[in-house]
Amino acid sequence: MRERLALSRPTEASSGKTGSWRTFRPVVDREKCNACGLCAQFCPDSVIDEDLVIDIEFCKGCGICAAECPKEAITMVREDR
Ligand code: SF4
Ligand code: SF4
Repeated sequence: MRERLALSRPTEASSGKTGSWRTFRPVVDREKCNACGLCAQFCPDSVIDEDLVIDIEFCKGCGICAAECPKEAITMVREDR
């Protein structure tokens, strides 16, 4: 099992729930992912947990996780409106 990461968790404060303004959401391809944990470390909102599940309620859609993923396992997909 992958080593546990020391990460903070999102809150209800100013950087809290995203609401409906997000344009893109990250989708992880588990076949490509090697569980390195870099996406979780770079996520500015700490919304990727130890099992690499993304809490979409708090994700801002910034795309940093996708940009940093060395396996190109994260795709930013346009939100349905
Ligand atoms: S898109 Fe941004 S906020 Fe959402 S999981 Fe990736 S790095 Fe975090
Ligand atoms: S950075 Fe990419 S390869 Fe690493 S855990 Fe995240 S999705 Fe998987």
